[in-house]
Amino acid sequence: MKNFNQTIQYLGMIGLIPLSSCFGKTEPNSEAQTAPNVIYVFPDQMRNSAMEFWSSERYAQHIRYKGDPVITPNLNKFANESVVFSSAFSNCPLSSPHRGSLLTGMYPNKSGVPLNINSSRPISSLGEDVTTISDLYSQNGYNCAYIGKYHLDYPTPNDPDHPGQYVENRDPVWDTYTPPEKRHGFDFWYSYGTFDVHKKPHYWDNEGKRHEIREWSPKHEADIAISYLKNNNGERDSNKPFFMMVSMNPPHHPYSSLDDCMEEDYNLYKNKTPGELLIRDNADTTMAKAASASYYFAQVTGVDREFGRILQTLDSLGLAENTLVVFASDHGETMCSHSLNDPKNSPYAESTDIPFLIRYPDKLKPKVDELLLSTPDIMPTLLGLCGLSEAIPQEVQGRNFADYLLTGKSEISLPQSALYIRNMDGEKDENGKVITYFPETRGVKTERFTLALTINKETKELKKTYFFDNRTDPYQLNNLPPDSYPAEMKMLLTELGQKLKNIDDPWYQEQILSDMIPYGKEENKKTKNHPEAIL
Ligand code: CA
Repeated sequence: MKNFNQTIQYLGMIGLIPLSSCFGKTEPNSEAQTAPNVIYVFPDQMRNSAMEFWSSERYAQHIRYKGDPVITPNLNKFANESVVFSSAFSNCPLSSPHRGSLLTGMYPNKSGVPLNINSSRPISSLGEDVTTISDLYSQNGYNCAYIGKYHLDYPTPNDPDHPGQYVENRDPVWDTYTPPEKRHGFDFWYSYGTFDVHKKPHYWDNEGKRHEIREWSPKHEADIAISYLKNNNGERDSNKPFFMMVSMNPPHHPYSSLDDCMEEDYNLYKNKTPGELLIRDNADTTMAKAASASYYFAQVTGVDREFGRILQTLDSLGLAENTLVVFASDHGETMCSHSLNDPKNSPYAESTDIPFLIRYPDKLKPKVDELLLSTPDIMPTLLGLCGLSEAIPQEVQGRNFADYLLTGKSEISLPQSALYIRNMDGEKDENGKVITYFPETRGVKTERFTLALTINKETKELKKTYFFDNRTDPYQLNNLPPDSYPAEMKMLLTELGQKLKNIDDPWYQEQILSDMIPYGKEENKKTKNHPEAIL
């Protein structure tokens, strides 16, 4: 079946049969359909609660915490037209690991990207040989565009303007140029590695020419995306479907002045106190970071406007009907919750819970869905929604929920939990380069509970337990004693062991905390097609 479909798609690509007949169902009587375009817009540190519609009655009943007092008119409208995921989970809530899983459909232990990428960590980089979602769209007749922050390549001294040098003078180096051989099927490139000066961004284009821009990055990126949609400069083949990723850095620190956001957006929040803006019960408004809240929400409102401009263009070009649009984020932002300065990389809801909305007119009926969507599920699910289920590689660990979304029924059981993962630097070589990673924390989030276990780096013994009943304590203020709910704890540990085994995690391989975590007897490893155990 796989070969048959690939052959049919290949014939379409080389023009022997219409491309429109190569996608979708292959039953003889099914109506030929044109492969949908896909637009995936994802800002960086936008937490799920930072969308205004959660505060309205229709949506508020689906989440346990309060929506932030933020203004997002475009997302409000978009939500009404979309499947809105209330429980999408960023499993390893940090830029590079999230992006590695997003593109490959694999967890950080298999994607090649276990740690945030910079020049001190050669252990972490998206490999040239790995198969990404963009490789697959490209192989199946799509044009693929990447606009904005990438943060998936290990920096090397490959500055196109200064051969032999890095693109920045920092140690470690974070930003980098991605050459064509590392672009994974993206044939339109307007991107950078990582760089946080929001009104002085830069990008390298297809040919490696650097563009220095003097405007707010999301606005500029929306302009590039709009030009791509309009095909102003022949960016794409108008006979092909396209897959376009737009990675906006804001909301992302710094959040400290009008250099970071648009004044019109800041004016909406500038007269509010930190206490009026940070309304979660766990927010510590005495922190110095509390002064960032107005800039954070200003960035969110600005991103909302730029997203709205992309949608408007899609409408005006008549492309909206046959375009699947996703709005998501890398991970969240703690923004003074739990008195944390670290915005991400923790098991708290502010860090892990991300926006995830899919609009696919006529195919997906707008609703709120409580599916516990994990990052690796995104790649196979999007391919599935485009009729490309057969193209999903066997090694992909994420699960394809396209049938469930399209029909409300699923042959595979729905997930009972999502994995939480935090890795730290491991061993270093004689030059101080990180050559292994330390799998510091593993956990599971279920509909009700959050459990995460941190181990000591030297002894591998339990160092800290995070255990929250999100039903009675949605702000995770009360870290429960592990024996508070013995039956539920047993269930959570069983689920954790099973999941770590399924993904062949280092914890399973090393049998970490095996006195607590039942990894199960040696048996045939489950494949992606087997249903998960229902607990
Ligand atoms: Ca990030």
